[in-house]
Amino acid sequence: MAYTNSSLITYKNITKNRTSPRYHVIDTITIHCYVGQVTAKQGCDYFATTNRQCSSNYVVGYDGSIGLSVEEKDRAWTSSSASNDNRAVTIEVACDPTYPYAVTDKAMTALINLVADICKRNNIKELKWKADKSLIGQVGKQNMTVHRWFAATACPGDYLYNKHSYIAEQVNKKLNAVSTVKYSSDIKSLVDKGIINSPDYWMAQQNNLNYLKALLNKLAKASQSKKVNSFGNVRDAINHLVKCKVIDTPTYWMNNYKKIKYLDNLLISAANHIQFDYLVQVTASSLNIRKGAGTNYAVVDTITNKGIYTIVEESKGSGSSKGWGKLKSGAGWISLDFVKKI
Ligand SMILES: [Zn+2]
Repeated sequence: MAYTNSSLITYKNITKNRTSPRYHVIDTITIHCYVGQVTAKQGCDYFATTNRQCSSNYVVGYDGSIGLSVEEKDRAWTSSSASNDNRAVTIEVACDPTYPYAVTDKAMTALINLVADICKRNNIKELKWKADKSLIGQVGKQNMTVHRWFAATACPGDYLYNKHSYIAEQVNKKLNAVSTVKYSSDIKSLVDKGIINSPDYWMAQQNNLNYLKALLNKLAKASQSKKVNSFGNVRDAINHLVKCKVIDTPTYWMNNYKKIKYLDNLLISAANHIQFDYLVQVTASSLNIRKGAGTNYAVVDTITNKGIYTIVEESKGSGSSKGWGKLKSGAGWISLDFVKKI
């Protein structure tokens, strides 16, 4: 594996505090707090001159500067764990000297850009954070770790620790990673609503979509063509991928693309449904539930508790000036004249 370093660095001072080369492929990110609002230069210079056996691959300064202290091909001495530091890129971020060890917005922005760059170059497709120490090493579930899991230390400080979800989210946006978790919950909601009935099938399509998107992004980057990236010209993009020998089954991918388009439309329609749900409180002491949206439909039950109900759909219908609302329970429809939104 040929390792590279980030082109985002503004300073470089390689320290002797390292083990060369690392023995594990890079699949983890470990963010630390460098106590004190230093620049990247100050941080790197410290690691290069100190007698203490410590270092990190990168240092992010309070001013957004980024320094290289240990090349990515080598293991830095950062996290009190050889197994962690051999597989992780470690980053020290300048922070306040006191609790909660906050970092500046400039440092946060630089950190997010740096982590996204590290992930891209090392083929980490998605950053995953569960705040769960028991998942150390299970990089398919969680590929961020923190120093406090390996030693009695407050590092990375509560400020950065609590920002880990945010950092992962922002980095994933840059990586164009679609969260599998989010999609599986969307697909579940489609199943719940009876729009689709084979979640495994659609999850598999979603995985194809992720793969295809990653390929298209790669292609767009190579060709600098926004046209291709927009999915507006998928047939051309897929043909180009074939030509570049990235994929070899254009028909398979075209078919997948059609299915994926269908799934995307379903997800949008589901999202519309989800956003539509709202709560109402019944204001009448007795309110009929009807089989359909209108007084011409049979009464199936009566609400007498002035309770709170969820409306999932609206419809016009006879006998109600504000229209009719469908109850989430599936019991039927109620007149919106006798409820108030809460
Ligand atoms: Zn640390």
